[in-house]
Amino acid sequence: MKILLANPRGFCAGVYMAIDVVDQLLDICGDEKVFVFHEIVHNRHVVQRFRDRGVTFVESIDEVPNGAIVVFSAHGVSPAVRAEARAKNLTAIDATCPLVMKVHAEAIRYAKRGWQILLVGHENHQEVVGTRGEAPEAIQVVESPEDIPQLTIHDPEKLIYLTQTTLSLDDANVIIRALKKAFPKINEPPSSDICYATTNRQTAVRAIAPEADFVLVVGSKNSSNSVRLTEISMNDGTPSRLVDDASELDASWFTGVNTVLVTSGASVPEDLVHGVIEALIDRFGGEVEQRDVHDERVEFGLPGTLRELMRRRGVDPDTRRIRIDREADTAEWLERKHIPNRTVQVSIRATETDCSTDGNGSTHA
Ligand code: SF4
Repeated sequence: MKILLANPRGFCAGVYMAIDVVDQLLDICGDEKVFVFHEIVHNRHVVQRFRDRGVTFVESIDEVPNGAIVVFSAHGVSPAVRAEARAKNLTAIDATCPLVMKVHAEAIRYAKRGWQILLVGHENHQEVVGTRGEAPEAIQVVESPEDIPQLTIHDPEKLIYLTQTTLSLDDANVIIRALKKAFPKINEPPSSDICYATTNRQTAVRAIAPEADFVLVVGSKNSSNSVRLTEISMNDGTPSRLVDDASELDASWFTGVNTVLVTSGASVPEDLVHGVIEALIDRFGGEVEQRDVHDERVEFGLPGTLRELMRRRGVDPDTRRIRIDREADTAEWLERKHIPNRTVQVSIRATETDCSTDGNGSTHA
């Protein structure tokens, strides 16, 4: 079997930062309990590994004892949640991805000007709940073109759409086209809200999937960007499945399959991808071809609140322990496992946002 391995795949800068936040906290907190509001990122294994290290995940601030440490997940929270945390005198460490914060900032800015905001996204997704909470009176969520006739619009000239960061580019474009048809004067966000990581992973799948008989996406069912990757390959005509790990592989999927594209969502640890590759090679033999569509070098700094807490506890916040070099690590792993492999550069234009941040988590565009 030939396994095409998509690059980029797996952890994005926002997920690296959020996981690093909890990891660093566990180190500096000793016996003090660490609470995380909502899953830190949408991956079953990441969450379970932190649970095993003593982290308590909560869905309500009520569950956190007064004065405790709580982390807000990468998806962001509404001002109401921040206020609840303040009222309980919690030490709140905000691991919201800076690219989600950018959408929050846009929502606040336009709502203050008296504009109405149409937020394209999945109504119950944590990120959309958080963004909407910034200006609930100004924001209406649009999940599909069918929602458009139900919208209440006061002034079509003071109208803007924003989007969830992890949408399918194709699905979002269908909705945006419908919005522009219904409201020709609707404004666009200053720059795309769909983030670089979502865009690049989707671009890579679209570019490589036509060469494959089957696409395997490693990711959890509640991970929006992982689910979108399976949809993209299926919409383009290549069957696809989403698996959390190698234990979910089903031999019947591979009847008549010679080439498999393997990729993973932005919240997926690379060892799970390795597990899937190893299972495929063990069963079918073959080789791995890493397809480099784009080299991502985006990194976000730790949130200022965490850096301050680390300094107070005598830890240098500039000591980062999570290393981002997925391609080199995977190449080394393939060699160690004696799996025949090579790397092929694919020249496709993908998106790289210059979104390095300072220690306060603010974005330099
Ligand atoms: S998928 Fe995009 S928005 Fe979400 S955490 Fe990663 S970089 Fe941030």
